[in-house]
Amino acid sequence: MCCRSWDSDEVTTTPGPPAGTTTAGPVHWPRRPTRQIMVGQVPVGGGSPITVQSMTITKTADVDGTLAQIYALHAAGADIVRCTCNERAAAEGLAQIVPRSPVPIVADIHFHVEMALAALEAGVQCLRLNPGNLRKPEEIKLVARECLDRHVPVRIGVNAGSLDPRLYEKYGGATPEALVESAQHELRLFDEVGFEDVKISVKASNVPLMIEAYRQLSAVTDHPLHLGVTEAGPPPAGTIKATAGIATLLAEGIGDTIRYSLTADPVDEVKAGRQLLEALGLRERKNVDLIACPSCGRAEIDVYKVAQEAMAALEDRNLPIQVAVMGCVVNGPGEARSADLGIAAGRHRGHLFIKGQIVRVVPEAEMVAALVEEAEKLVKEGIDARLAAADHGAAAEAEADRAALLDLRGDDANNSETRIDLIDKRLGHR
Ligand code: SF4
Repeated sequence: MCCRSWDSDEVTTTPGPPAGTTTAGPVHWPRRPTRQIMVGQVPVGGGSPITVQSMTITKTADVDGTLAQIYALHAAGADIVRCTCNERAAAEGLAQIVPRSPVPIVADIHFHVEMALAALEAGVQCLRLNPGNLRKPEEIKLVARECLDRHVPVRIGVNAGSLDPRLYEKYGGATPEALVESAQHELRLFDEVGFEDVKISVKASNVPLMIEAYRQLSAVTDHPLHLGVTEAGPPPAGTIKATAGIATLLAEGIGDTIRYSLTADPVDEVKAGRQLLEALGLRERKNVDLIACPSCGRAEIDVYKVAQEAMAALEDRNLPIQVAVMGCVVNGPGEARSADLGIAAGRHRGHLFIKGQIVRVVPEAEMVAALVEEAEKLVKEGIDARLAAADHGAAAEAEADRAALLDLRGDDANNSETRIDLIDKRLGHR
């Protein structure tokens, strides 16, 4: 059974982030129900956590180089990794890569059915087939039978840029309907041999086209969906395009696994994917969520610089907390009181705060180091213990700094009196 109608009552609820983190909230988006498949040991669909994928850019025949990249992707948060299988040497490489990989491997297959069969012999945990360039029904059914026997799932990877020319002609272009029909045609061939372990993607580089194709596909199938904006390009524009497409669908409950297709280091793809899921509350926070004020005339430090330094110091420490960098102690601790930890600047000092309560005051030059030290302790000991260990004089010091700054600048962050004097002088010269 490949096709179905979506019933809005049949929903599963996205599990929220862990209790106690700042991203936990009352919002739970219903996810459209899908069947579950297993990619190796990783479940996809059926209410399981949304997974992040990427693809290696090494030659697959370069076993050590490819494995090094797979390990880097895994460390960044990838759940599944795809490698091209475009030639005999690649298939032979996969035979050595698969048993040493920390994540399931998907073989990417285009044009050559024999490469799909070779990848199965190599032991891959999933195939990606492109129906646009693998079009002979008997060949597709042959692969499906092999997958059925081996319990290996397949992603039907429709791509607007390589759509079956017959569908391109029928629809007058790569329309959402054409992409969906391509996927359904392949599903029917799989159905004929009783093969159902399938996930589907209908990617396009055009974001509205991609969104609409997935919406239509989601309405007619319960197979898990792999989301992506193909050939999104280099960051930041590529990241924005991919996020626009993927996030829109996720917020509608559509999507079971995601991939950012960026012209960038694939580790950046994984980081972007993880960050999106964490920002939407769809995956547990794995790493720090750094927030920072946009800076303004009250800022006592270069907020951009300190925020960048803090991000660089914290990003690879696996600290699943929200950390704030705020430009002034006048407003910072209050505005960022929901953050687990933060630092605000004032009178050449950094005011460390936990959940808005000042716990320590440090010299300005030590702000980032103090932030990192406290972040480590906070994750290890917990919020209550760190609040109990607070320097009780710190709050009074911070209040004194805050009062002095208020006194110095009042609530006029723009130095308006000085500016008005300057304006008067300038106009007086006319
Ligand atoms: S925290 Fe202070 S410096 Fe940052 S935007 Fe708010 S008022 Fe301005």
